[in-house]
Amino acid sequence: MKNIYLLPLFFLTIVCFGQQTDSVDFKTCKASISFNVAENKVIGKVAYTFKILKKTDSVYLDAQNMQFSNVSLFRSNKQNLLKDVNSKSKLILRYKFKKGKQYTITFNYNATPKKALYFVKKDSEPQIWTQGQGKYTSNWLPSIDDMNDKIEFDLSITFDKGFEVIANGKLIEKQNNDSTITWHYDMQKPMPSYLVAFSVGKYSKKVEISKSNIPLVMYFYPEDSLKFEPTYRYTKQIFDFLEEEIGVPYPWQNYKQIPVKDFLYAGMENTSTTIFADSFVIDSIAFVDKNYVNVNAHELAHQWFGDLVTETSGTHHWLQEGFATYYALLAEKEVFGEDYYYWRLYEYAQELQQQDKANAGSSVLNPKASSTTFYKRGAWVLHALREKVGDTAFKKAVKNYLLKHQYKNVETKDFISEVENTSKQNLNAFVETWLKSEVFNYEEALQILKKSSFIKDYLQVDCNTNDLKCKELLSSNVSDKIKAKIIRENPKLITQNTFKNPLKVRQAIAQSLTDIPLELKNDYESLLNDKSYITIETALFNLWQNFPKDRIKYLNKTKNIVGFQNKNVRTLWLTLALVTDDFETENKKQYFEELTDYTSPKYGFEVRQNAFQYLNEIQACGVACKDHLQQATTHHNWRFKSFATKLLKSSLSEE
Ligand SMILES: [Zn+2]
Repeated sequence: MKNIYLLPLFFLTIVCFGQQTDSVDFKTCKASISFNVAENKVIGKVAYTFKILKKTDSVYLDAQNMQFSNVSLFRSNKQNLLKDVNSKSKLILRYKFKKGKQYTITFNYNATPKKALYFVKKDSEPQIWTQGQGKYTSNWLPSIDDMNDKIEFDLSITFDKGFEVIANGKLIEKQNNDSTITWHYDMQKPMPSYLVAFSVGKYSKKVEISKSNIPLVMYFYPEDSLKFEPTYRYTKQIFDFLEEEIGVPYPWQNYKQIPVKDFLYAGMENTSTTIFADSFVIDSIAFVDKNYVNVNAHELAHQWFGDLVTETSGTHHWLQEGFATYYALLAEKEVFGEDYYYWRLYEYAQELQQQDKANAGSSVLNPKASSTTFYKRGAWVLHALREKVGDTAFKKAVKNYLLKHQYKNVETKDFISEVENTSKQNLNAFVETWLKSEVFNYEEALQILKKSSFIKDYLQVDCNTNDLKCKELLSSNVSDKIKAKIIRENPKLITQNTFKNPLKVRQAIAQSLTDIPLELKNDYESLLNDKSYITIETALFNLWQNFPKDRIKYLNKTKNIVGFQNKNVRTLWLTLALVTDDFETENKKQYFEELTDYTSPKYGFEVRQNAFQYLNEIQACGVACKDHLQQATTHHNWRFKSFATKLLKSSLSEE
């Protein structure tokens, strides 16, 4: 750096900040990051450029509990070194910034993030991953919590050889150091800070190319190569469909999907870099009950709705979640068919009605609305709107809305006004009923749904009052969903013939027939052969309950089945093996140890939760199990943490 001049700088200890986006526009961030894994520490070197829109004497970055050094401010070729400019939650620059001028700030920092970045250490292979939404990226990278400032983030991450490092944008260089590699990722467009993400772990990957030439990179654990196909089934079809349906080309350089351990949600739509829970990594048997298709499509839809256009505030959150939920349903319609689509909408409507009955509903525009409202009522808004204005006006409006506001922020009126333009309709009344009203418009939703003959038939089935007709229907060729509904409403109608139905109808039998009549015993036992982990788990338990004399037979038959990623069949099997008196007495100790081992932190929280539950039920949570339960009460996943806290409390009060 030539010609370095000192710039006068002022520091304040007490500062009050309003909306910074009015006076400052952050443009680019280049961050080089490495880790001290043993200490859960992030070490970084960062350069931000920003433009001053309005004369101001202070600029800040959000930065939670960080240590800074070498903080320097540059304008043109002038530099100044700063000292001690960080508060507990901000890095503050106090200086007479001039309107229209561009500045650069550089600094080194380190942080030990309590959230938003997680070191998951199981066995000897750590994973590191981030979650910015709801947690704030500023816990691990000085950035801007306000989603109205969009920045082009380029991350360079250094980690040990043998690991894969994935971040937003395109990998442009892998630089070989002695024992580490530095991965340089490049973004070309801006995004809000909450979408900045990376993941480090042991991964293999496969790449497909979309119709539009976008690389779709799918990561998986090396040991899961057989699960790759069922996990990512339909990925390219979903991508090609959504790009065509939305009408605006996919806005980023590539699309990467990465499963991680102990994730906080189902998935997160970080720009070009979706991170998802590895409980969706499945084999083809699990696919029929629990697959990644919906989450896959949902996070992909967010790449437009959320990432390309971003809400200005929580009031407009449905513009992200409602759209992602709706477009995921459209993708599922493409894959699973129309009946499935309408049936899911029907389920959403039911859930929304229940929510209203419990007085828990609210306007879609309430920033404190429930997820059900944002996601499912939001999706319903779009389905109803499309029914009202027609496909052509709807699709044109979505396209105009995205193009007009791309890489910027949006409010509800930005979308509605586009639909009014293309449809030439006044939508005031629609907005009142569907968006602003505190209650979900259930009656009208049902009317709209009745356009589907499948839903019409489905709604007509009522087996609490009309057994004869239901009996007839059950042996006819109506859809599996209708048969399952009949079985759930009246399990007494099940006969030997009912077992001759496909998988999902048989699953309904397994779940509904808890008292198994002797004449159906043989047929019910055949459920243990079904290719569904839910059916097997349910059937095993019910058979074991109903026919004590055959317990050993059932246990022998299901001995080698593990089930979903949460080991649902295996953990049940171990529990039943332990409490079945005359079953393999010599192996009981080994089975107990296996079940206890599943409570340990080296397993994902879904497995641990099952093991804790079963051990608790048979009152066999021993010293090791209790110890693991204690550890679980500090887990980063709040649902698991609160499960463990509750269980620990109740087990202590029993002692
Ligand atoms: Zn979402």
